[in-house]
Amino acid sequence: MTVASLIAKYDQRVPRYTSYPTAPHFSAGVTPDVHAAWLGSLPDDGALSLYLHVPFCASLCLFCACHTTVVHRLEPLVAYGKTLEAEIALVADAIGRTLPVRHIHWGGGTPTILPPAVMHAIMQRLRTRFAVQPDAEIAVEIDPRTLSDEGIDGLARMGTTRASLGVQDFEPSVQQAINRDQSLELTASCTAKLRAAGIGSINLDLIYGLPRQTTPGVIDTVTQALSLAPDRAAVFGYAHVPWMKKHQALIPEASLPGPQERFAQRQAVEDTLTGDGYQAIGLDHFARPGDSLAIAAAEGRLRRNFQGYTTDDAPTLLGLGASSIGALPGGYVQNHAGVPAWRNAVRAGSLPTARGFALSDADRLRRHVIEQVMCHMAVDLRVAAARFGADPASLMDAAPALQTMQRDGLLTWNGYALHMTPKGRPFVRAAAAAFDSYLQAGAARHSAAI
Ligand code: SF4
Repeated sequence: MTVASLIAKYDQRVPRYTSYPTAPHFSAGVTPDVHAAWLGSLPDDGALSLYLHVPFCASLCLFCACHTTVVHRLEPLVAYGKTLEAEIALVADAIGRTLPVRHIHWGGGTPTILPPAVMHAIMQRLRTRFAVQPDAEIAVEIDPRTLSDEGIDGLARMGTTRASLGVQDFEPSVQQAINRDQSLELTASCTAKLRAAGIGSINLDLIYGLPRQTTPGVIDTVTQALSLAPDRAAVFGYAHVPWMKKHQALIPEASLPGPQERFAQRQAVEDTLTGDGYQAIGLDHFARPGDSLAIAAAEGRLRRNFQGYTTDDAPTLLGLGASSIGALPGGYVQNHAGVPAWRNAVRAGSLPTARGFALSDADRLRRHVIEQVMCHMAVDLRVAAARFGADPASLMDAAPALQTMQRDGLLTWNGYALHMTPKGRPFVRAAAAAFDSYLQAGAARHSAAI
């Protein structure tokens, strides 16, 4: 089968599986009371991971699919910080003990749009209410266009260990089409200052499939990005979902590369990065061989959560801030997406939980299988089922889709053990989807698989 026919057959709209079940299946049945009960029953010895969402940016990039709005005034940022501090107290009260924290991830939006004093106060609140471990990873997503020297100093003082810089594409005509003007020089200067401040681990985010992007242009961008010697690169396909993100409708469909061109761009990015010695991790991450993500992948410890591929193996992820999602042993919880609803709940002394999903034993098994496929490009259903005391036969509804993918040369499948082939690697989401019990039931439309 040619690549063109494979793309036509498998370029379905499927989830990226940063959770299972995926967020469109969450419901209001998971209330603040349910969330509080799940928090109260967290194990004493289980480490936590924290995600803080800051839904503000200085300007809107047209491709963006994040929960964010443009803010130019200080007052809503300071108010947001105060509410976040109050939410931290509510969550810690519901837990009722001081549990250890190994990972903290600030995402957005643009977390560094908060004044350094606000970020510092939030970190102080976290350190007061949780046992943040001395070697905890503290990762912050950064927009290099707006990060001041004072902001870099603030990040260093609050113990930031990893900075994730949005780059997307360095070609001026592409930047114009996505409303994001960001030169290589500015990005290089920001990277150098972060390193000089002691923030040693640098991740760059790149995107293919953007308007006006071409394969040679994407190779140019990756080559320029490599001149910054990032420790990791995350490379995402642009998800054009204007029915969910209205501003994306400002991107003319005709300016977007088609599925085959997207595929070629993706391959060119991978070839350029791996040609420079980076190791491909999962579907869309790349890391230097000595990086902790590459080591975790080599040792079979790679995990996948809402931030993508991670070394974070904490059994509980707590989400803080508007729209944030947490993953607890009991299931998933999501906060109100709008800042007013989130703030009003916190002010009323209630967890700002809007919806979630209570996991069944069958969900937990499928979640594990899907994570294995997404992280390791392989799974043995007998091993996976044994871990959950289940019968692998309960997963065999996936067999027809897997057999079809095997006939197309995308994976090998002996009835239990599944391995993606090199040719099948870009289609791994389709293999994961074979185990998704909810996919057909969902009305949600996801982004293209490739
Ligand atoms: S891509 Fe980043 S900076 Fe641009 S609007 Fe989205 S969150 Fe904000």
